[in-house]
Amino acid sequence: MNKPLKQHLIDPEICIRCYTCEMTCGLEAISHDDNNVVIDVSKCEFCMDCIPVCPTGSIDEWRVVAEPYSLDDQFGWEDLPAQQEIGEGQEADTGLEALDDAMAILLAEAHKGAGGKARAPASAAKPTINMYNLGKPAEATVQGNYRLTDEASDGDVRHIILDMGGLPFPVLEGQSVGIIPPGTDADGKPHLPRLYSVSSPRDGERPNFYNVSLTVKREPNGICSNYVCDLKAGDRVKLTGPFGATFLLPSDPETNLLMICTGTGSAPFRGFTMRRQRENPSLTGSLTLAFGARRQEELPYFGPLKKVPESFMKKLFAFSRQEDGPKQYVQDRLRDEAGQVSELLKDPKGHIYICGLKAMEQGVEEALSDIARGVGLDWAELRDTMREDGRYHVETY
Ligand SMILES: Cc1cc2nc3c(=O)[nH]c(=O)nc-3n(C[C@H](O)[C@H](O)[C@H](O)COP(=O)(O)OP(=O)(O)OC[C@H]3O[C@@H](n4cnc5c(N)ncnc54)[C@H](O)[C@@H]3O)c2cc1C
Repeated sequence: MNKPLKQHLIDPEICIRCYTCEMTCGLEAISHDDNNVVIDVSKCEFCMDCIPVCPTGSIDEWRVVAEPYSLDDQFGWEDLPAQQEIGEGQEADTGLEALDDAMAILLAEAHKGAGGKARAPASAAKPTINMYNLGKPAEATVQGNYRLTDEASDGDVRHIILDMGGLPFPVLEGQSVGIIPPGTDADGKPHLPRLYSVSSPRDGERPNFYNVSLTVKREPNGICSNYVCDLKAGDRVKLTGPFGATFLLPSDPETNLLMICTGTGSAPFRGFTMRRQRENPSLTGSLTLAFGARRQEELPYFGPLKKVPESFMKKLFAFSRQEDGPKQYVQDRLRDEAGQVSELLKDPKGHIYICGLKAMEQGVEEALSDIARGVGLDWAELRDTMREDGRYHVETY
């Protein structure tokens, strides 16, 4: 039995037959007839050169197949076949495994807390994944590096803005990028990228500039976080990605979001909030942010967050080491707001997102479980239903 393979295809329904991909492909793997533009599986080597030049994204389609679709199949069809059922353990052979695997493993590990396979919200936009990789990274220019936490505070968290210089880098709120730190590891191998959640909305930190921002915490002895936190304006940075196909913002403005985070876990929620502010500034009561840190001075974006109208986004701050305040964690704030949280649990359009320190998972789960029990709901059951619906998301690291 042949090992299934990953086949590169073009979606004939959205392809505008501009043939830019065909002109770009150095291997002449792409051709067309009067009907469709097609890819010769025997020639395509996944170099990805054609992906960024495609104006519609119709070329960013992949199927894992036991038997590849022939050119005649592709010339003749009107829409793309659905992904076939591939037998257990029958992983596809792509040649990109090393990188895909490393990033996929990091993301799967980060999403484990959801208790099962994560799904994207039903109304989320379609993400682009893996457009750039170790073999062909994107290069960006640092536009800004701002410290978000008080100089005097322990945690050094930075807001980093990257100018993609017109390079297509379609990234959605909730996705992450890989930053390739320069240099080699102890075995002389190039460092693997580290993942950072994007903290800007899809049209850019500045509307329609498509510049990308990140929220990075300096880790003691950390290779990549120190590299990123020490970047200067004008420096060039190598990126991979985008990554993440599930931890996404629903496009349906009627959805209610409970966003729970600590520290840099606020990054995706900054993107979510800005996206909603740009798209539906008049929305009220659909966003709640529970945000924990040791002290106020160590909470990234505290200042800007406070300016977001409470009607647009309810904020529940929790400080565990604030001298002049109660010692609180995010789960304590959830319990304080059990009434509102239980309403969201009962709401078929209610969505929960958890991002940040892995250590917060258990406390948050226990709080949600208690709040659910308080209204006669079984949290374990509800969580699985919400996850299956694309309404429960965990990304911790
Ligand atoms: C999906 C996802 C999203 C993420 N999003 C973000 C984000 O938005 N912002 C963010 O800041 N991080 C984020 N991370 C974490 C980030 O990817 C890195 O793991 C983090 O920046 C540490 O990388 P590093 O290269 O600095 O540390 P590494 O060099 O990889 O070291 C890892 C850890 O080991 C410790 N360490 C290393 N060497 C030593 C030593 N000699 N002695 C003791 N300890 C040591 C470091 O302190 C560090 O904590 C995310 C991770 C995932 C999986």
